[in-house]
Amino acid sequence: MKIEVRTKIGNVEYKFHIEEEDTKKALLMASVFGNTPSKCECGNEDNFALAGNKDKDGNVYINILCKSCDAKAKMGSYKNGGFFWYNRFERYVKNENKHTQTQAPETQAPANDMDWGD
Ligand SMILES: [Zn+2]
Repeated sequence: MKIEVRTKIGNVEYKFHIEEEDTKKALLMASVFGNTPSKCECGNEDNFALAGNKDKDGNVYINILCKSCDAKAKMGSYKNGGFFWYNRFERYVKNENKHTQTQAPETQAPANDMDWGD
């Protein structure tokens, strides 16, 4: 099954071409790319950017960045394949190592994936 998903994140329109034989997997991917987190706790609903970074071990992290308050909603990956969004924007506060993460779904990514210098 082939699906084209168009998603606008901030000022940029992304076109995702999904080619996946398994129809359910194709639709799952389409739902992830087509439904990026779009409401931040700060009230922002349209000023976002797709952001990513790579740590020293080569792990890649993808986030939706709220350009109003710098909070991020992370993309997670299931152990058995596929992706999902943490539909909650989290703001990392300097000098505070405690990150409020109450309902973390199963993910391979470590919770503390960003080096914010604290
Ligand atoms: Zn925000």
